[in-house]
Amino acid sequence: MRRSISVLVPLYLAVTLVGVTAAAHPAAPSPAAPADVTTVVRPVRARWERRPDRPVRVFIVSADTTSGWDPAMVNAVWATFRRWSTQGVPVRFARASSASAADVIVEWVDALPGNCIGKTWRRDFGDEIDAARITLALHDHRGRPLTIEMQRGAALHEVGHLLGLEHVGARDSIMYPQVLVTDVSDGDKTALRNLYRHRSSSLAD
Ligand SMILES: [Zn+2]
Repeated sequence: MRRSISVLVPLYLAVTLVGVTAAAHPAAPSPAAPADVTTVVRPVRARWERRPDRPVRVFIVSADTTSGWDPAMVNAVWATFRRWSTQGVPVRFARASSASAADVIVEWVDALPGNCIGKTWRRDFGDEIDAARITLALHDHRGRPLTIEMQRGAALHEVGHLLGLEHVGARDSIMYPQVLVTDVSDGDKTALRNLYRHRSSSLAD
């Protein structure tokens, strides 16, 4: 079957922090830790192929040992999944009770390399997204706490990647590679609808 010969291709996508320093000479991204990298090996527009009665199960890790983490962040992140809910897009999310029962894991770390404040690792089978992991930072790379709004923007951005969206150049989009806005726009939902509109003619069952 088509699925059995598909190759696992992890995609690393990230959002960067912007505007926290006023350095005379903005630091160039280090080759070892680029500020924002989209590594798309194949030009595939992957998406979840799920029926509405088979939701994508999300486990949000309680990072209670991580400095600066607040239990309220679990519901705040869960709200960003719901914020992407779009008419015509047959992806539904449900909370999983454990990581082993989840398709998607959300975790926090103290900080990410470079200017990254969020990162999505996605596993695709062909043009179907199979699993994903989102890592969110609590601090910038200099150790300063990220504001709640900044964290919300990063989470929305990463869930956009999780759903199959990639970076865009429009600065009013949540999928711009830096957090300039902290909400999903009508244009973002239109892009999501378009991604899911043209479904594969031969869905694996
Ligand atoms: Zn990104």
